[in-house]
Amino acid sequence: MDERLKYAPCGYVSITHKGMVTDVNQTFLDLMGYQPEDLVDQHLESIMSTANKLIFHSYFYPQINLNGHVEELFISLKDKEKQSIPFILNGRRFENDGVEVIDCVLVQMRKRIDYEQELRSAKKQIEEAYWEKDQALAKLEQIHKEIEQKQAELMEINAVLVELSVTDKLTGLKNRRFFQEKLEEQMNLYGEQGLLFSLVIIDIDHFKQVNDTWGHQMGDDVLESLAKILTFHVREEDMVARLGGEEFVLILPNTTEPESKKIAERLRAAVAESSWEIGSIKVSMGIATSSPGDSETSILKNADKALYASKENGRNQVTHIMEIK
Ligand code: GH3
Ligand code: MG
Ligand code: MG
Repeated sequence: MDERLKYAPCGYVSITHKGMVTDVNQTFLDLMGYQPEDLVDQHLESIMSTANKLIFHSYFYPQINLNGHVEELFISLKDKEKQSIPFILNGRRFENDGVEVIDCVLVQMRKRIDYEQELRSAKKQIEEAYWEKDQALAKLEQIHKEIEQKQAELMEINAVLVELSVTDKLTGLKNRRFFQEKLEEQMNLYGEQGLLFSLVIIDIDHFKQVNDTWGHQMGDDVLESLAKILTFHVREEDMVARLGGEEFVLILPNTTEPESKKIAERLRAAVAESSWEIGSIKVSMGIATSSPGDSETSILKNADKALYASKENGRNQVTHIMEIK
């Protein structure tokens, strides 16, 4: 055998058309740990497993007989230690002086298989990492949704709490705190833009007697009913609040003295003319309309003064502060 073929960088084996080894190069012998006599005149199948023999029979021989050559046949051969070594085999049939030989070139595949396995395992790891990332993203999205929902719930609860903090429990009207805020707003509008407003304080006449005669619960019922009457009769832009006890207050935006008196009188009559379980309920009112130099305290004081005058003059009546100044 040619020296270069003997040490070619691949295995080289010649076999007869029956598969008997006629020649083998040193590279293949070194690779497999064989001596030439281990293989020469032996059947190539003697170093194949049954499965590989089957491949050889079903693919190698038919291809050689049909095409005269075989390319890239993947096959495992056993070395001296009976270890299975994977090879890629290319074979070609020649006729030498009427004798048929098949030359086979065998390139060891171990490294490539290792690389492939590494690649496969890296690919699997990447796929797993992607899967975990997708899972984490889905979880994150879920958490986001939950947070958004909780935020919406919190905002709802907040809105309810805000509403509760400005609402009078018994009557459902706005409470004193809300009234103070509104009064400040109106005072600012008056100071900055000259938009006047009127303030009406309403006090139930002889309410103590209602409690004393009919009991506290009936007193509460009267307060609730009065709240409904007031709400029903005021305009949309007006604000009704319970100042505390049996005192109520109205803020009438953009309302002059005569207009405020008309509205208050209408309310007073509505209360007096309503049918009450306990007979009758009357209210007295005091009004003040914003005027230059007024503050929140002074306008409240004026409305209270007017209310006091209504009480002094016999109750069940309306007094505007301008009538007694
Ligand atoms: P006036 O005509 O001078 O206003 O007499 P009045 O009896 O209405 O006034 P007074 O201030 O003497 O009494 C008010 C009463 O209102 C005393 C108190 O028991 C009662 N009252 C205050 N708040 C409530 C409440 O929430 N429910 C009930 N049922 N009564 C209340
Ligand atoms: Mg009172
Ligand atoms: Mg009273």
